[in-house]
Amino acid sequence: IALVMVLALSACAKSNGTLTMATEATFPPYEYYDGEVIVGIDVEIAVALADKLGMELVIDDMEFDSALMAVQEGRSDMVLAGLTYTEERDLVMDFTDSYAKGIQVVIVKEGSDVTMDNLGDMMIGTQLGTTGYIYASDTVENGGYGEDHVIAYDNGITAVQALMNDQIDAVIIDNAPAQAFVEANPGLTLLDGEWALENYAIGFTKGN
Ligand code: GLN
Repeated sequence: IALVMVLALSACAKSNGTLTMATEATFPPYEYYDGEVIVGIDVEIAVALADKLGMELVIDDMEFDSALMAVQEGRSDMVLAGLTYTEERDLVMDFTDSYAKGIQVVIVKEGSDVTMDNLGDMMIGTQLGTTGYIYASDTVENGGYGEDHVIAYDNGITAVQALMNDQIDAVIIDNAPAQAFVEANPGLTLLDGEWALENYAIGFTKGN
């Protein structure tokens, strides 16, 4: 009887339809592939949300930039992607309260002469559409380094590969994946200090 009740409960628990989550699953420990399955902190939050709403969670993995667009255009209900709250993004999507702090850090090659202070003389890799790209490519007057000093890659892994191949001098990216990239790639290290401090939140289609 207990089993039947559980089945009945889970059947009705999914009766409110699907909750679609857009993400970019090369962002450990928030979202990453464990074999064929996308797992991580954001996935666990999304599963809990879907359960609470009685909905079935569907995860759509895409480029970070596309995940932002998917939510803005209503093709996904929400984006969980270590997404930083910004006032600009707040104009085009609805945000939850923040659930985590994000820190932008700088990855360099071990022994390189790049410092927090001379980044403006360097070529910097970032991930397209991220706050790292937005801030770094901003004008010098606004605290950035100018577009000429910043390359936007499709994802963090590609940016890190470019750094390993000496195509760029540094990568600005969120601390959590940065730690994972540095661990996985001998010869890389993080500069001391925090390049930027941010708050992660979930973005929903406006009015969803
Ligand atoms: N926190 C950064 C942003 O929101 C990067 C997120 C990511 O790369 N998934 O722009």
